[in-house]
Amino acid sequence: MSRNSRPHRLHNNRRWRRIARHQLKIEPLCRFCRDEGRVEPAVIVDHVVPHNGDITLFWTGELQSLCRDHHEGKKQRLERRGYDTSVGLDGWPIDPRHPANNPANKPVPMRRG
Ligand SMILES: [Zn+2]
Repeated sequence: MSRNSRPHRLHNNRRWRRIARHQLKIEPLCRFCRDEGRVEPAVIVDHVVPHNGDITLFWTGELQSLCRDHHEGKKQRLERRGYDTSVGLDGWPIDPRHPANNPANKPVPMRRG
């Protein structure tokens, strides 16, 4: 049995470990704690936008460093609601599953004339 016949495990390979190590180096503190004005070492590298197994998103998506508590909290909120409530720089929720990202709920631009 060759190595390649094993199922691809996203978080269990050298490439991810290298990316995660780099992320914790450039952002060693928990981002959510920092937003709350606290200093807490980050231990987990998290995808800002949940990748849900999407390979492209997994490798190219924006990352953030989190402490264990915040990572667990984020995961639990996500599982309870079914979507992430994090908002992007434009103030709009980043999770495509968020109800605000349902095209039917998007604000309709004012029409001229
Ligand atoms: Zn934290």
